[in-house]
Amino acid sequence: MGIKVGIDLGTTFCAVAMIGADGKAAVIQNEMGERLTPSVIQFFDDGSYIVGAEAKEALDYGEEGCAAVFKRSMGESGAYCSFYGNDYTAQQLSSIMLRELKRQAEKVTGQRIDEAVVTVPAYFGELQREPTLRAAKDAGLTVRQLVSEPTAAAMNYAADHFRENAKILVYDLGGGTFDLTLVQMKKNARVDVIRTTGNSMLGGKNWDDELAKLLEQKILEDVEYTDTDIHTLCTREAEKVKIALSSAMKAKAHFTLEDHGSCTVEVTREEFDDATAHLREKTRGLCRNLLDGLRLSWRDINAVVLVGGSTRMPQIKRFIKEISGREPLSRVNPDEAVAIGAAIMANVKAQPYAVQKMTDDASVIRALRKGSVPAKEMPVESLQKLTVSDVVAHTLGKVTVNKDGTGYKNQVIIRENSVIPVKVAVAEQFYTKGGEDNESEIIMLQGDSENVAECTAVCRYVVSGIKHDPSRNPTLLKVQYSYDANGIVHVQARQEDQTTDLPARKLPAPPDMSRYCEGISAPPAKAKAEPLRIMMAIDVSGSMTGEPMEEAKNAMCRFIDEFSSYPGDFKIGAMVVSDRTQVVCELTNDLAQCKEAVNDIKVCMTGLCNEADPFDEILNRLAVARGKKVGVVLADGVWAHRDKAVTRARRCAAMGINIIGMGFGEADEEFLKAISSGEIGAMKVELSELTVSFGKIAQELGGGRGGKKLFGGSKTAQTECETWPAPGETL
Ligand code: ADP
Ligand code: MG
Repeated sequence: MGIKVGIDLGTTFCAVAMIGADGKAAVIQNEMGERLTPSVIQFFDDGSYIVGAEAKEALDYGEEGCAAVFKRSMGESGAYCSFYGNDYTAQQLSSIMLRELKRQAEKVTGQRIDEAVVTVPAYFGELQREPTLRAAKDAGLTVRQLVSEPTAAAMNYAADHFRENAKILVYDLGGGTFDLTLVQMKKNARVDVIRTTGNSMLGGKNWDDELAKLLEQKILEDVEYTDTDIHTLCTREAEKVKIALSSAMKAKAHFTLEDHGSCTVEVTREEFDDATAHLREKTRGLCRNLLDGLRLSWRDINAVVLVGGSTRMPQIKRFIKEISGREPLSRVNPDEAVAIGAAIMANVKAQPYAVQKMTDDASVIRALRKGSVPAKEMPVESLQKLTVSDVVAHTLGKVTVNKDGTGYKNQVIIRENSVIPVKVAVAEQFYTKGGEDNESEIIMLQGDSENVAECTAVCRYVVSGIKHDPSRNPTLLKVQYSYDANGIVHVQARQEDQTTDLPARKLPAPPDMSRYCEGISAPPAKAKAEPLRIMMAIDVSGSMTGEPMEEAKNAMCRFIDEFSSYPGDFKIGAMVVSDRTQVVCELTNDLAQCKEAVNDIKVCMTGLCNEADPFDEILNRLAVARGKKVGVVLADGVWAHRDKAVTRARRCAAMGINIIGMGFGEADEEFLKAISSGEIGAMKVELSELTVSFGKIAQELGGGRGGKKLFGGSKTAQTECETWPAPGETL
């Protein structure tokens, strides 16, 4: 049997840890005897590469072929770098890194790695977690789970200092990001992550930038003018000076300016701390939000655990003391805590899926209050006894047609800070068209805002094989959304009465989301449209029996729906025609009523043959109406009194009524043309295209909301329903 390891795949450093024979988790040294491996790769022209300290050295000397800080670009499309004619994505680079970490750890321990827990920043969402997981699999690792870095750090702390009821705040300031996570230790060696928040644009890099500015100012105090690009020079030096200031009260930087020769500037820790006060304040703001949101004060927090290289700055320790009133814990090694915590998590039991109940603040606060009894030291007998529940950092939603049908919105499905793994199943109605078109698309979003433009599209699911039943359209599907334990999104769909999932493909999000963003942030100022009156007439003669009738009714209902947001005065009516005519719905603006009447249409309800035509009735209803007047006539086959029908249709045209003659099957195209008038004219279509053609007409007439292929439009009912096993869920 091999070993289970934890891997901290850091932006700047990586570490691998395992639980040793002594039952304690510790870092595994690499081949060179180092505990940390720099996240740097150097490629050579023969395609070979080296990883770690040597590559980092090459990078520092400015040698060619070096790739670093690629983790920040995880999930970005396209190459991160290109050497000797080969492109590398951040995912590929991470995979090389992980393969090398695995190789070295196996060599040093002399054991095979069976399973690994790989850590990611808490703020990593679907777009970064999915490629991280793939990178690990490509590296030959069996990934037990992806775990958030602060959660792993909290586990490391809990393993050594388990105190029942204690609330721990993990303050993780790395190279490019800040993560803040509140954890509560509970009875039976449970560790629960309560909240996680952060800022993915705040990290050591921002401190470097401030220091670079400071250096620049100081150079310009001595040198009034220089041609040298001092900004670039200072940026290059800043990190070194910053790190020096962590152990000394002042540090010097040396520069060579083309037109002035060498120049040395000195920065004191105090100057640096002053220049970066606003950055510390940003972290204070996030701390306050997190605590306020849970109605906690600093007094309720038992310990602050510092993680991430940037917490080595003395200003951070002082700052934590100032805001929390106590010294931060220094018992945790900020460089190793994440890997060690991950090693512990590689050995604990997996959590079952929670069925989503909104993690409402009130219940979380109640639970926290319950825990407000003094914390008591409670050593964990064995690390395997620990259990942990984590939360997700991002709200999951999907693109939905908004209420008035004028655009799209983000419909929230699973809130941030929900305990993962989590699933929620919803019964949703949507339309099918029949024919080849039995697919529907769901676009998943990350973010809280209703405004799609303020969210990130993370993936798209195409559900196919949906049964098209014209008599039950819209169809009811059960759709289950989940975040697995890795924080990765899954969507499953089932026909209402089925127990197996429909085929569903997970695809990248559409590259251009602009069409889903319009009309929300700035609703399109639709000009008030002219009044519109439409009379639909449908042939119900015997030849319509069966599918033609059902398709026609379906198409008409869809057609009516297209006008649900017509920006003007709109009325629609419906009639049937065969041997007689019958108006089944007088002109109305009640679209639901009209659809109901259409659904009630039966074949042959006015006789078996085509003795009659609908044009006099249409004329009666529309002749004196205001605005644009349209008669949509759906025919099948040839009408008995063809010439009479054409004459009456022309009379309609003379009264300003546009007749659109639509036909399928045996319908005579010449006849359709003869009865049609206006811009749209006649249309002969296949039965399976009927709905699409009706949709086109609706759009020409100023209707159309688009996007109906998306689940859960405003008019569709949504109810929670029974969940079922999620992918990979073991019951
Ligand atoms: P990540 O997890 O993003 O890889 P780390 O936790 O390794 O980040 O932290 C890297 C950051 O820590 C860099 O910005 C680096 O400059 C900073 N850092 C590392 N050591 C020190 C130090 N002694 N003093 C100040 N900053 C440091
Ligand atoms: Mg790190």
